[in-house]
Amino acid sequence: MTLLRFASKQSFSNESSCKQSSSIERISDIFGSDVFNMETMRHYLPKDAYDSVCTSIKGSRRIDRKIANQVASGMKAWAMERGATHYSHWFHPLNNTTAEKHDAFFEPIWSGGSFETFRGDVLVQQEPDASSFPNGGLRNTFEARGYSAWDPTSPAFILDQTLCIPSIFVAYTGAALDFKTPLIKSLSALEKAAVDICQYFDKDITNIDVTLGWEQEYFLVDQELFEARPDLIQTGRTLMGHSAAKSQQLEDHYFGAIPSRVSAFMKEFENWAYRLGIPLKTRHNEAAPSQFECAAMFEEANIAVDHNSLLMTLMKKIAPLHKLVVLFHEKPYNDINGSGKHCNWSLCTNTGVNLLAPGKTPKTNIQFLVFFVSTIKAAHDYGLYMMASIASHSNALRLGSNEAPPSVMSVFTGTTLNEVLDSIEQRVSDKKMTPDEKSDLKLDIGKIPEILLDNTDRNRTSPFAFTGNRFEFRATGSSSNCAIPLIVINTAVAEELQQFKKEADSLINTGVKKDEAVLQVIRKYIHQSKNIRFEGNNYSEEWHDKALKERGLEVFKNVPAAIKSYLRPEFIELFERHNIMTEVELKARYEVKSENYIKKIEIESRVIGDLAANHVIPTVITYQNILIKNVLGLKEIFPDTYHDMGAEEIKTIRIISNHVKAIRENSRKMAEMREILSSQNNIENEAEGYSNNIIPYMNDIRENIDALELIVDDKLWPLPKYRELLTIH
Ligand code: ADP
Ligand code: MG
Repeated sequence: MTLLRFASKQSFSNESSCKQSSSIERISDIFGSDVFNMETMRHYLPKDAYDSVCTSIKGSRRIDRKIANQVASGMKAWAMERGATHYSHWFHPLNNTTAEKHDAFFEPIWSGGSFETFRGDVLVQQEPDASSFPNGGLRNTFEARGYSAWDPTSPAFILDQTLCIPSIFVAYTGAALDFKTPLIKSLSALEKAAVDICQYFDKDITNIDVTLGWEQEYFLVDQELFEARPDLIQTGRTLMGHSAAKSQQLEDHYFGAIPSRVSAFMKEFENWAYRLGIPLKTRHNEAAPSQFECAAMFEEANIAVDHNSLLMTLMKKIAPLHKLVVLFHEKPYNDINGSGKHCNWSLCTNTGVNLLAPGKTPKTNIQFLVFFVSTIKAAHDYGLYMMASIASHSNALRLGSNEAPPSVMSVFTGTTLNEVLDSIEQRVSDKKMTPDEKSDLKLDIGKIPEILLDNTDRNRTSPFAFTGNRFEFRATGSSSNCAIPLIVINTAVAEELQQFKKEADSLINTGVKKDEAVLQVIRKYIHQSKNIRFEGNNYSEEWHDKALKERGLEVFKNVPAAIKSYLRPEFIELFERHNIMTEVELKARYEVKSENYIKKIEIESRVIGDLAANHVIPTVITYQNILIKNVLGLKEIFPDTYHDMGAEEIKTIRIISNHVKAIRENSRKMAEMREILSSQNNIENEAEGYSNNIIPYMNDIRENIDALELIVDDKLWPLPKYRELLTIH
């Protein structure tokens, strides 16, 4: 095993990480020590360079060449002092991982010798060839260049002795080839719309940050067992395996004592995370055996997204030091909970106000209500696209089952706020309100925070829940980049706020007083988005029925259908209107998502076919031969009664043959179907075909294999079983 070295002054071994907490430094002493943050910048940059970076972080002013050179030189000095030898633009291509291409600071001189260099132009822009990332046709011309460009709003950091510079990644046409570019655009669209509306209430509000606090669920598995499971290695999940007799039914894992090996792993990655400025706050056992969660304190969304991706990279690198492997797949095991990534989302003003937290006065509460109902309306009008954004093969295995929000969008507000919304809907009208009506209503609105304090009830079945001072999008899958759902949420809420302002302004222009105009639009939004509010059990069949038939909410039939909604004109118009993504960029994303879906299932189907033919069936036949030999032996000794004595064995021999036959037949048909689908040359049909035809074959094969696992001698079974995989000693 290679020992990891992130920066020269930082290296870890199993020994060091397993030491007791007495050896661990205070978190605040190490927090952010590997980050080129504002404080470090002040030390390493001349004043004008520092000021210029600050302005470009706040607004969108470009950094000129001279300043870029100064920043590059400061960054290099800092990074080299900390042992870095290389630098890299660090970006989020469209494949849910992060990408880096390291270049050395070192540069040889032709006449002999060498020096270390890092110029401003290299800091600002690079051209990594990177042509093999998914691009959905955005780069398939001869002009296939892609550029990465520095994002100064997210600070550079050192990882693996490399200075990593968070960057966007775009094609030479300017089309985004990553998640960060549209994320940043969506953040500024939302900021603008939100600031505009806040002007009704407080002229001092000039900047607004979207805040994101993520909760990351994951599984751990022993490395040796992992290596004995080709399906886990190649697909990230088990494609076969009968559930263990004891899994999560006793609910004795959730919040239980963390096993020591796991705890050593957690402490080690947390230590690294703190150095990288990732504000991890929470760790605990999750519901399923060997499932865990960590959560960070919320931050500005762009930084929080980078931090989540960075943490996932760290965890993957550090787990093997503890002979563990971390699984971010949404559903590594059947029959137990899968993993999600809750995205807690809110808005915070430069005056320090959380716009989704009820305030202390009726005025701030009306402001809260504007943002609250606009977000609910965004979920009503565009919730389908929020669900589409997180639709993937792996997340589909998790969604719709019992532990995770189902595929129908709904919003949970809690009984109290539900009543407040109902009451506003009834009491406000288009007519002018009497002074008494107005003060009654204001009094009630003023009471919101008091009521809320006592009534922040939870509904863990809801995909999009209000949790007191934020919305929590729970449908996001554990392996997803948080930017993906955020781009849709931000854009949708920006749209609703913009429309809100338009409507209120036009009422004001006709002479309606400002607060009455605002209340009237609030009422209208409440009314229009009523159907998305649901306080009950989102898993229940009645709800699915009701959602479809009574509420007219759309439910996706499958992942390809969800992904296809990226091509709907209203979705494209929304994104183009707010300048987040063009039709071409959205179509590219549709292609990338569809291809990803097809390829993932294709790989799974080939792996299960291979395991069935080369691992399972030979083992099963060996065992069947043992039974046959046994029956033949009985026949020799007891020619008259062997039929009766060996009745169970004979039955089992037959059962085994039936299973083997089913596996062989389905594997053959599945391979034939793959051939047919791949010859179609139509991505939509192919994706549908994989969903409708390949997955059922895989399920059928699995059922037969899992049944055989219970029959065949344990000593012969070629793969570690669930009971082993799900236990960490
Ligand atoms: P739970 O499991 O009950 O949802 P956690 O404490 O695990 O609670 O996670 C709550 C998450 O919500 C944390 O990441 C926290 O930082 C985040 N959060 C709290 N307030 C805000 C906010 N204003 N904006 C965004 N996220 C927030
Ligand atoms: Mg949560």
